[in-house]
Amino acid sequence: MLRMGRQVGGSTLANFLKRRALLPLGRGVVTSASKGIHSFTFNSPGLQWVNYEGTKKRSTDAGTTCREVVISGAHASRPIVSVARDHSTGMLKVRWEGGKEEVYPYVWLKDNCRCPSCYHKVSHSRLTFIEETDLKAEPISVQVVEGGQQVEVVWQDDHHSLYGTEWLHYRGFSEETRQARGSRYRLERKFWGTESLDNFPEASFEEIITDDVALLEWLRLLEVYGFVKLKDAPAETGQVRRLAERIAFIRKTHYGDDFTVQAKPDPSNVAYLNGPLQLHADLPYYEYKPGVQFIHCIKQYEGVGGDSQITDAVHVARQLQKACPEHYRLLTDTLVDWFDIGKDETGEFYKLLRLPVICTDKNGEISRINMSQPVICTDRNGEISRINMSQPQRDSHFSVPPGEVADWYAALVAYYRLLSDPKYCLQFKMTPGTIMTFDNLRIVHGRTGYFSGPGERHVQGCYVDWDEVRSRRRVLETKIDPYRSLYNH
Ligand SMILES: [Zn+2]
Repeated sequence: MLRMGRQVGGSTLANFLKRRALLPLGRGVVTSASKGIHSFTFNSPGLQWVNYEGTKKRSTDAGTTCREVVISGAHASRPIVSVARDHSTGMLKVRWEGGKEEVYPYVWLKDNCRCPSCYHKVSHSRLTFIEETDLKAEPISVQVVEGGQQVEVVWQDDHHSLYGTEWLHYRGFSEETRQARGSRYRLERKFWGTESLDNFPEASFEEIITDDVALLEWLRLLEVYGFVKLKDAPAETGQVRRLAERIAFIRKTHYGDDFTVQAKPDPSNVAYLNGPLQLHADLPYYEYKPGVQFIHCIKQYEGVGGDSQITDAVHVARQLQKACPEHYRLLTDTLVDWFDIGKDETGEFYKLLRLPVICTDKNGEISRINMSQPVICTDRNGEISRINMSQPQRDSHFSVPPGEVADWYAALVAYYRLLSDPKYCLQFKMTPGTIMTFDNLRIVHGRTGYFSGPGERHVQGCYVDWDEVRSRRRVLETKIDPYRSLYNH
């Protein structure tokens, strides 16, 4: 296990990284050339960044592409050297060997007592009652026990609590520790245009199916870049289901578990089969919109056309915001009706949802109340959470004052022009066995038109929810890197 300050390098660290799995969060450039490890730095407790040559691209030349990886465990086994009460602030001060300090509010400590009457370990559940929260909790004594591995607190009601060193470490309230914890929740998105993305984020289908490390690597890339192209899947149906079931399960919609687009030259609906599919995000009329989409190319049209297009629509929305704030405002403020009416295998449906094209939760409305852990949910950071773009599924009912309509259309057209600008829009032709995997809340996708000719096009797709993808990532991180106590409860 790696510890802060320990001198490691060369094959020791290389082997550690290989064994423990290192998790690419992106790509970097080798800054210095030495065998095995190029450089590494520690920059936050529990999460450190290493530039490592990666297990697949073996090159030790400076200037070659490498991956960023995360290692952890720096403070995990460091003992606590002292604890002190501060009744004026209502906090317990804790100091670790090496100098790290954190403070813990008394009320929080008491609320998180780990004793069997307060906490059910097997279900990771709090057993206490909310209205009995001890708002005036105050320790009458505190001490470091078990050689610095535990802190014992005796409260004024004579309740005894024990807190583990690691447990406290990863629950610190300092800005630094809170930030380090952020990647358990969500990975930071890296936005891209065609110029900023040197290579397509790619992964091997076969490795994902057979190897948990490859599976985790793919899920992380998907969360960070919103798009990963998978290679070498069998060119037959059923592969998107295999992929979804490596994560959890398919998210069903009114079109069923998966969908097939099998275009055959057919004069009766040539326009539908051969015309371009404009850039869009699927299912804009779902409040709980399926978050991740897979599209598997089983058979490709052999003539000219039928290319796939994808754009990071959140990145482009930010560009629009800079270039034309008024357009951006209109697209984030104006509610649009999105709908889908029809009949499919699950019966008749009439979906209708009112949302802007660019969704931010800047208005701070209460979006949800979670009763199992009462939190009134508002998304206060104003980040773009979702893009709705679909020419066919935009309703003709438009409930805005008539004087605002023309300006809104101008904003929509300006945004669409940017989305399809080659500066932002990646275009490529899928070959049989390719699977596009992407974030349906962030990426818009489309297909260029093609003309009738030899061959036919056969594509199969399905959806998975982000809840399941992130859950699987956390499970794998816990399993593959057990030192990341950050994930342990
Ligand atoms: Zn207790």
